[in-house]
Amino acid sequence: MLTQTRAVADPDGLRPSACPRCRAALVPETADALACVAERAVFRRHAGIWRFLDGETDHAAFTAQYRTVRRAEAWGSGSADYYQRLPFTDLSGRHPDIWRIRAVTYRHFLRWVLAPRERERHGGLRILDLGAGNGWLSARLTGRGHQVAAVDLDDDPRDGLGAVVHYGDQAPAESVQASFDHLPWPRAVFDLAIFNGSLHYSPDYAQTLQEALRVLKRAGEVVVLDTPFYAREASGRAMVGERNRRHGQQYGVVAETTRNEAFLTDARLQELGSLLDLTWRVRRPYYGLRWALRPLQNRLLGRREPARFRVVAGALDATTSQRGARG
Ligand SMILES: [Zn+2]
Repeated sequence: MLTQTRAVADPDGLRPSACPRCRAALVPETADALACVAERAVFRRHAGIWRFLDGETDHAAFTAQYRTVRRAEAWGSGSADYYQRLPFTDLSGRHPDIWRIRAVTYRHFLRWVLAPRERERHGGLRILDLGAGNGWLSARLTGRGHQVAAVDLDDDPRDGLGAVVHYGDQAPAESVQASFDHLPWPRAVFDLAIFNGSLHYSPDYAQTLQEALRVLKRAGEVVVLDTPFYAREASGRAMVGERNRRHGQQYGVVAETTRNEAFLTDARLQELGSLLDLTWRVRRPYYGLRWALRPLQNRLLGRREPARFRVVAGALDATTSQRGARG
């Protein structure tokens, strides 16, 4: 039902403004409802989160499995302090090794990708946090004066978008439950699109990156953080097999995630660069001595190659002109 409500437009903000299905402009109906007139569809905001997954049952199975594993692993907390200290301190004490890696990655991202952009531009950047989870990265970036839209499939109150209530005035400007492959914005909105430990959940990297590039400005960058890298495809496949067996044994979970690409190799990254006219910059953060010795240790013990993590940033090739017509 369309009404005459006015003054809910958000010309300078990051409120979703394009239908994720047909890309028509969304018309604000109330402060918490956006209408796609073409499809006679209404997308609503409940509990502070815009809902764009209605009727997309293919994501429900993934999210259900993801939650089963994450709950068994006891992610999250009832304390706002826990969320506000991430990624530097894990007050729950349950996943300190993972948060240590994430903190190193975050510092490299700041120094190498974000700070140079902050220096060359006054005022905040528009940033898309893809796979925002509990919103810790969105909160850190909001605290630095940027406008952030947090996107995730999961609205869980401890481990998903529902947790952004813990950040107070550093909560992201918009929290959006949507698929990476169908983002509810028009083209050329964001300065940075960050896959925040999340690209490996995509079943098709090319399609997912293409959609992120659509909503990025021409001079924007797509950033990939905390996706596991392997030198060899076979090592990545071995990791997926081990993980699926473990999840099956420990949590009774059937391997829904086998349909995801699950990891990156340097070869796959180069292939995606050629396909999408992207030039990649790749950094290899130092995660500490124990982490650094793992590849050698594993080789000596005859184990598979361990995952490595990179900070990856991709910009559209300056020489490619037809990209202006993207959309
Ligand atoms: Zn539509």
